[in-house]
Amino acid sequence: MERKESESGNGRRVVVIGGGIAGSLASKLLQFDSDVTLIDPKEYFEITWASLRSMVEPSFAERTLINHKKYLQNGRVVTSPAVNITNTEVVTGDGAVFGYDYLVIAAGHTDVLPKTRQEKLSHYQAEYEKIKSSESVMIVGGGPSGVELAAEIAVDFPDKKVTLVHNGPRLLEFVGQKAADKAFDWLKSKKVEIILNQRVDLNSATDGDKTYRTSEGETIHADCYFLCTGKPLASEWIKGTGLRDSLDGKGRLIVDEHLRVKGRKNVFAVGDITDIQEMKQGYIAEKHASVATRNIKLLMSGGNERKLSSYKPGPDIAIVSLGRKDSVAQFPFLTVSGCVPGLIKSKDLFVGKTRKARGLDPNLVD
Ligand SMILES: Cc1cc2nc3c(=O)[nH]c(=O)nc-3n(C[C@H](O)[C@H](O)[C@H](O)COP(=O)(O)OP(=O)(O)OC[C@H]3O[C@@H](n4cnc5c(N)ncnc54)[C@H](O)[C@@H]3O)c2cc1C
Repeated sequence: MERKESESGNGRRVVVIGGGIAGSLASKLLQFDSDVTLIDPKEYFEITWASLRSMVEPSFAERTLINHKKYLQNGRVVTSPAVNITNTEVVTGDGAVFGYDYLVIAAGHTDVLPKTRQEKLSHYQAEYEKIKSSESVMIVGGGPSGVELAAEIAVDFPDKKVTLVHNGPRLLEFVGQKAADKAFDWLKSKKVEIILNQRVDLNSATDGDKTYRTSEGETIHADCYFLCTGKPLASEWIKGTGLRDSLDGKGRLIVDEHLRVKGRKNVFAVGDITDIQEMKQGYIAEKHASVATRNIKLLMSGGNERKLSSYKPGPDIAIVSLGRKDSVAQFPFLTVSGCVPGLIKSKDLFVGKTRKARGLDPNLVD
C-alpha cells in the first residue's frame, strides 16, 4: 500500500470522504485552515438535484458539474473510493493510505457515476438524444427523481407519451399526502399516465417489442425507460471497518449533537448518511457541513470541547420542481403548488446559490 503522508501534518490533517453536497462544502470551508484531502470516486462535484433538468437540456450540466479542483484550490483531491478506515488512516480503492487527525464522512448514497466531468456531460447528451428520439417514455419510481423527471419531459416534450410507474400507494412518499396529491394532479394535467401500486418487469419486453408487463398484468409500451428508484446509503463498506459499531440498523452513522460519530472524538459525519431524525435534504447537509467544520477548526486550535457547536434539526421543508416554472412546496404549516413556489426553485434549481456557497461564479460555465 502506498502511504501518502501530508507535508504540513501538525494535527491539522483532515480527510473528507465524499465530494457531494456536504463533502464539497466541508472541504471548501476547511481548505485554508487545515491540510485537506478530499476522497471521491469521481473528479467532480455534481449538484444532484439538477440532474433531471440536464437530461432534457444537456448544456444545463455545464454549471452543475464542477471539477473538485475548482473550489478546492488548497487541498488534495483523490479520485478513488474510500474502502477502509482505521483509527488513524483512510485506505482508498487504489491502495493509497491517508493519515488523518480529523475525518469527515459525507458518503451519502451510492451511485455508479462516470469518473470524469466530460464523460458525465456526454452521458447527459446521450440521455437527451434518447428522450428526443422516443415517442413514449416510461419512468420507474415515483419518488422525487421520478416525479421531477416526468415533469421535465412533460414540459419540454409535451407530445411524448410519459408513463410513471410506482410500486407504492402514492407519489413522493417522503412528503405529506397533500404535497403528493398536488404533484399527482399537476402531472395528470400534463397528460402523464401514473400507475400506482404496481411493479414493472423490465425483462418482460421481448426483442423489438417494447411492451413491458406490470405486476397486475397491465402492459406499458415505451420506446425507452429511466430507472428512478431510491439509492442505498453508501455505508456498506463501513461495516467492514472499525466504525461498524457506529452504524445503526439502517446503515446510518450515529452522531452526537456536535456531529461526531458515536465513540469517536475526531470523526464527524454529515449529510444523508447520518442518523439524525429529519428529512434528507441538501440544504440540511450543507448546515451539517458548516457545524462540523466549525467544530474541527475549534478542536484544531486547541479550543475547549464545551464550546463545540451543536446541530439542531430545523423545520422540514421540501420543494419538488415540476418543470421549468412550477413546483410543489411543503412548509411546516403550508403546502402549495404552482408558479409561486416555482419561483423559489424551478428556474435555476438553486444552481447559482450552490455554486456561490463554494466560492464560484453563479453563472459561469466551467
Ligand atoms: C430529485 C431530487 C431532488 C432533490 N431536490 C433537493 C432540493 O431541492 N433541495 C435540497 O436541499 N435537497 C434536494 N435533494 C436531496 C439532496 O440531493 C441530498 O440530500 C444531498 O445530495 C445529500 O448530500 P450528501 O453530501 O449527504 O450526499 P451526496 O450528495 O449523495 O454525495 C455523496 C458523495 O459521496 C461519494 N461517495 C460515495 N461513496 C464513497 C466512498 N466509499 N468513498 C468516497 N466517496 C464516496 C459520492 O460519489 C458522492 O460524491 C434532492 C434529491 C433528489 C434525488
